Amino acid sequence: MTSAGLTSRQDSPARQPDDLAAAVVRHARRLGFDRCRILPVGAAPHADFFDSWLAADRAGEMSYLTRHATKRRRPDLLAEGEAGPFRSLIVLAVDYHQFDLPPALRDDPSRGLIASYAWGDDYHEIIRPLLYDLDSFIRSRTGRTTLGKCLVDTGPVLERDWAHVAGIGFTGKNCCTIDPAAGSWLLLATVLVPETLTYAPPVATTPGSVSAQAVLEGLSWDGSYGAWELPADDAGPDAATRTGACGRCTRCLSACPTRAFVGPYHLDPQRCISYWTIEARQPVPRDLRPHFGNRIFGCDICQEVCPWNRRLAQRSPLLDGLHARADRIAPPLLEGFAPETPYWLDEQAFRQKFRRSPLRRAKRSGMLRNVCIALGNWGDPSALLALRSALHDSAALARGHAAWALGRIVALHGHDGAASALADALERESDEWVRSEIAAALA
Ligand code: SF4
Ligand code: SF4
Repeated sequence: MTSAGLTSRQDSPARQPDDLAAAVVRHARRLGFDRCRILPVGAAPHADFFDSWLAADRAGEMSYLTRHATKRRRPDLLAEGEAGPFRSLIVLAVDYHQFDLPPALRDDPSRGLIASYAWGDDYHEIIRPLLYDLDSFIRSRTGRTTLGKCLVDTGPVLERDWAHVAGIGFTGKNCCTIDPAAGSWLLLATVLVPETLTYAPPVATTPGSVSAQAVLEGLSWDGSYGAWELPADDAGPDAATRTGACGRCTRCLSACPTRAFVGPYHLDPQRCISYWTIEARQPVPRDLRPHFGNRIFGCDICQEVCPWNRRLAQRSPLLDGLHARADRIAPPLLEGFAPETPYWLDEQAFRQKFRRSPLRRAKRSGMLRNVCIALGNWGDPSALLALRSALHDSAALARGHAAWALGRIVALHGHDGAASALADALERESDEWVRSEIAAALA
């Protein structure tokens, strides 16, 4: 056994790095990955940019992003015990695009929109075993007895930057990895291993394919969001090299309903619908709520408007569990309040309804908060009964947002029932924040 946990089987002529790297790519494809590229593990690109982003206090409640700063810069150090150091980084991508959301669903305020990555089962649970399989495949050929590091959004690896370096796609101004051929609907994952594999040569992703470039040349800055200059103190040291292939396009920046982009390539999650509806456990700032529309889990807007995602063919994902389930695309907002399907009000019903779904991450109280915001934005009196139920929920987070939504109905329709429900609740309510929301709704 060597210090890297490898045996001499690694040196067998039949298992030279060239052969092994090609076999890894083939096996990744068999497992269902759409892209697989192999890189030497080095210093993380754009780590300075990420650190300046953290220093600007962008992470909000995502405190896990602030951990392991050293390992994020040096992923080779992620090796534990006898495994390391890691020498090769395998970057994998799964294309999860299935179809564009039909406008009849998207524009129906009585339905709650779910981001398309969550239309099927939780991709973490689907992809992680496949990464273990890929690592096991390598170990079976090299005799390594230690484990590689398999990560799906869960470790200190800057996946999008590595995907950019690997040539899987460029980083767009919307901060997504964009494959010129397949768009940005990509789930990224990485496997770090101690073997020295043959590295795929870098792929030129700028300016992309001729046809894709032609799409971009047809675009012009619509100017609705002002001139985009990278502020010197906000851009980060690598900003000049992060130009990708967006050209002059700024569609994603202009389309964001909450103006979450501080600048190109620079997102402030604390203004982003995805952050608030998935990660945050706190009340959503009142000034942001009207901009959420009917989005109850995540937001796809800055990808939907991207020309690289235009005219993508309808397809089935290679990974079974990612297939869209009809009831998880845009469910009627009021359905989860019905006595026979009370999944917004009842923990057990919620767990049963969203078994294996990414929606569990937001928890029932977070989802009920999100649904109340959508009901407030709909502003229809038919939501009154549901909102009265939410106003009595065990979670203060839900009660406060139900009050806000009822206030919207009062403001729009002068509805007596909504106003009296709020007044009754104020008499009973002991939580100071909820009381403030009720008072604001009645004002
Ligand atoms: Fe804006 Fe939505 Fe993109 Fe967040 S996900 S940056 S809210 S468009
Ligand atoms: Fe780049 Fe335009 Fe796509 Fe935004 S919408 S990522 S600016 S090509």
